[in-house]
Amino acid sequence: MTTVESKPRPRLPEWLRTKLPTSESFSRTRALLDELKLHTVCESAKCPNHWECWSKGTATFMIAGDRCTRACGFCAVSTAKPLALEADEPQRVAEATRRMKLKHIVITAVARDDLADGGAEHFQRTIEAVRALNPGIVIEVLTPDFNDRDRDIEMVLAANPHIFNHNLETVRRLTPSVRSRATYDRSLSVLGKVKKLVAASRQSAANLGSLGECGGLPTAATIYTKSGIMLGLGETDDEVITAMNDLRSVNCDILTLGQYLQPTLKHLPVVEFVPPEKFAELGQRAEELGFVHVASGPMVRSSYHADEVTLPSRP
Ligand code: SF4
Repeated sequence: MTTVESKPRPRLPEWLRTKLPTSESFSRTRALLDELKLHTVCESAKCPNHWECWSKGTATFMIAGDRCTRACGFCAVSTAKPLALEADEPQRVAEATRRMKLKHIVITAVARDDLADGGAEHFQRTIEAVRALNPGIVIEVLTPDFNDRDRDIEMVLAANPHIFNHNLETVRRLTPSVRSRATYDRSLSVLGKVKKLVAASRQSAANLGSLGECGGLPTAATIYTKSGIMLGLGETDDEVITAMNDLRSVNCDILTLGQYLQPTLKHLPVVEFVPPEKFAELGQRAEELGFVHVASGPMVRSSYHADEVTLPSRP
């Protein structure tokens, strides 16, 4: 992780203060996740919406362990040598999804640079297991960059998720100090590649006069791409607008903008608490740029209210 000087955290502005609901449904979510021995990014990343989402009976599953091979300055997930993948984890995620009666699932993972495929096959197996046990569910994956390897991205796409989410996290200038090993251009490339691979696959299928498996990719449906940017790390409005334009240049469909909050004193400090009006203004700008769906607000995270997205039905 980027080393930062420990300073006391500034008091949160009113719009970021949340009440901690104590609810039975929160405890039920906790008990279920414990029973099935599943990790969530809600907990591992110290998400400020943890109480709200779990009380509503939603959570974002974090597969492939809880030890990340990277050490980004904003993220509270532990950096350590990862353990072996658990072969039955996909089934346990599917079972949790069934019991939670989720209509929309978000599956993320730690970066697994130690694995030859970056964990892509594990993603694929998890998507397939979730779909098999929960027909009709909307499946969203929030992936690492897989070092931009075509074969790994194809492996995830072959399981036909509805939404492929990969976060840009911050503006170009701040990327080296905010993200570890990931680069701004590589993330754009990943998102652009998803669109190109899916389009090429659909075209081949159309040429063959059939929709089905083609070159290992699903061909029946569009896969929407999604990305997120944290605000409050010292970026300017112009830099955010440039980043939004860069995302549109690779045909990114969905955008989230949320306030960065320092998870511990060892992480990057907050430079600015961006007021809600600014989120509204930037969200409006993003809509004008053509994103299909935009969520912009201080508490927005990649997976916050992810089930509220309204997408055109998949052709
Ligand atoms: S916003 Fe996402 S990561 Fe945070 S608690 Fe909700 S589901 Fe979990």
